[in-house]
Amino acid sequence: MTDLLTKNSDQAVCYKRIIKTINGKLSGPVVVFFGGIHGNEKAGNIAINKVLNNLNEDKINGTIYGISGNIKALKANKRFIDNDLNRLWTKTQIKNLFQNPNLKNESVEQLEIYELLQNIIAFHQGPFYFIDFHTTSSKTIPFITINDALINRKFSSFFPVPKVLGIEEYLSGPLLSYINELGYVSLGFESGQHTDKVSIANSVAFIYLTLVYTLALNVDDLKDFSNYVHQLKTAAQHNKTTYEVTYRHKIEDGEIFKMKPGFKSFELVDKHTEIAISNQKTIKLNNKETLFMPLYQEIGEDGYYLIKPISAFILRCSAALRRFKFDNLLVCLPGVSWFDKPNGVILVNLKTAKFLAKKLFHLLGYRSRQISENHLKLTNRERVSKKNMYKDLIWYKFRA
Ligand SMILES: [Zn+2]
Repeated sequence: MTDLLTKNSDQAVCYKRIIKTINGKLSGPVVVFFGGIHGNEKAGNIAINKVLNNLNEDKINGTIYGISGNIKALKANKRFIDNDLNRLWTKTQIKNLFQNPNLKNESVEQLEIYELLQNIIAFHQGPFYFIDFHTTSSKTIPFITINDALINRKFSSFFPVPKVLGIEEYLSGPLLSYINELGYVSLGFESGQHTDKVSIANSVAFIYLTLVYTLALNVDDLKDFSNYVHQLKTAAQHNKTTYEVTYRHKIEDGEIFKMKPGFKSFELVDKHTEIAISNQKTIKLNNKETLFMPLYQEIGEDGYYLIKPISAFILRCSAALRRFKFDNLLVCLPGVSWFDKPNGVILVNLKTAKFLAKKLFHLLGYRSRQISENHLKLTNRERVSKKNMYKDLIWYKFRA
């Protein structure tokens, strides 16, 4: 199947930076699709090529962009050449793009994408939507990953696939976190396993549904709308649950890590099951857990993740607490202070504020980073969200 997909993809895929731009007749949203930020994940590129080249501009509202990610790596069918392009979107790395005269392969790609993004944002008024397509090395049902901001939660709730919140807390520099910090709706869509043909069909369905939910395309102009919904519903095995990441096995430098064969993403695995070998030691689960993105390729530093469902009640509570800006009260507590109020950054002294659980900050929309033994730096995803851009749209008004 690998050969088939590679062969087809080489014929079908355009590796230009801008795969296609569609300027609709009427005003509307700006929808940006990225494919192939990881060069061995081609399903997104193939789907973007396929759908965008088939759209009738007369029926489109707003503007649609299809953008290739790591072009060199796509051509070489590798995750990356020198560095992972999806770990470079930190402030320091972006500054480096303009100061370092000898940029490595991925930094050259990043600079082009960065400038393109700035131009798109400067040229249009929005509302903006950014969708980033990926696939995984393990077998998986399709799913969405989002930074846990309400605009992302509300918009993603329309899609009939599971959502996984907060993975960016474990990663440094993914593209979507950068865009999210600019305040825009940004979703990652993992469509399936790298070489599985259904990953392409899932990506195609996801693009069409995105166009309908953003109102770039009128539902009456998409005769296969219900087929695309059905495609994703069935592929996701009717799982629409929202999960949070509770654990990441980071593969350290020099660690020899191997997953035991046969595990899938979203698989419920029994207590005491042996799931991997790390430096010749067996890793067993202490509890019954839902396994997420087990690693079945040579490259990558994430061995596996564990996830837990979040109940609808907790999701509603956290939305309400965020609306009431409950965090203004938090800084009155001992050991909690503003580090940068306009940007919603809180500093927590863990010695004095031991009683505050990470879970509470998650409920309030904070992403946490341990910056020293005794200090947590918490960044609020809500305060930077450009809610005014979305607040009058139907999906924003009617979703929790
Ligand atoms: Zn990827």
